[in-house]
Amino acid sequence: MANPPLEDIRSKIEKAARIADRKPSDIALIAVSKTRSIDEIRPLLEAGHRVFGENRVQEAMEKWPVLKAEYPDIQLHMIGQLQSNKAGEAVALFDYIHSLDRLSLVKALAKEMGRQDRQIPCFLQVNIGEESQKGGCDIKAVPEMLAQARTAGITVAGLMAVPPDNVNPVPYFALLAKLARDNGLDELSMGMSGDFDKAIKLGATHIRVGTALFGPRDTPAA
Ligand SMILES: *Cc1c(COP(=O)(O)O)cnc(C)c1O
Repeated sequence: MANPPLEDIRSKIEKAARIADRKPSDIALIAVSKTRSIDEIRPLLEAGHRVFGENRVQEAMEKWPVLKAEYPDIQLHMIGQLQSNKAGEAVALFDYIHSLDRLSLVKALAKEMGRQDRQIPCFLQVNIGEESQKGGCDIKAVPEMLAQARTAGITVAGLMAVPPDNVNPVPYFALLAKLARDNGLDELSMGMSGDFDKAIKLGATHIRVGTALFGPRDTPAA
């Protein structure tokens, strides 16, 4: 079934990819479904979309086991801050984690991946704007975090960041791309509803889009 917002985003992805001389198929669209009900999510599944993102383990546990049973090829991304005591549930439910940002979480996730015999590729989240209220490791801690994650047996796919609000995100996207290059990482999780086209031009491989697909959220969600 056709879904106009989804088609609109897809065509914007294609356009941005064309300008950047990239393949649209190299850019994963993560539909960010935090705060959305199962009924709001279903139209996207019926339109054939399978890649989704959530920012809270508890909320995801209430929605996705049901939907994953119905659509086994769903790919679920954890994009929010993750507490170490939720590592077990996160490893069981999610297929990617974008918010690996500290050593205690490296240890908790590695332990659960071992225990559950389930390897979940992770992105290192970087506090790219050096904002005290945001998650993510320090820019200069990236090489050490990467080494520690690998030593613990975690596959690090790339880097993730959320630039500061209300400023031009382009320099932050460029900095994240450079950090990834300098550390030999291929994947870049960056770009949201308002700026994913710019992120694609700077190399995003995973864009995280909520409101542009689902409409405004009525409850604020970090
Ligand atoms: C909510 C959220 C998004 C999506 O934001 P929109 O502006 O609704 O597209 C992307 N990334 C993270 C980490 C989020 O928490």
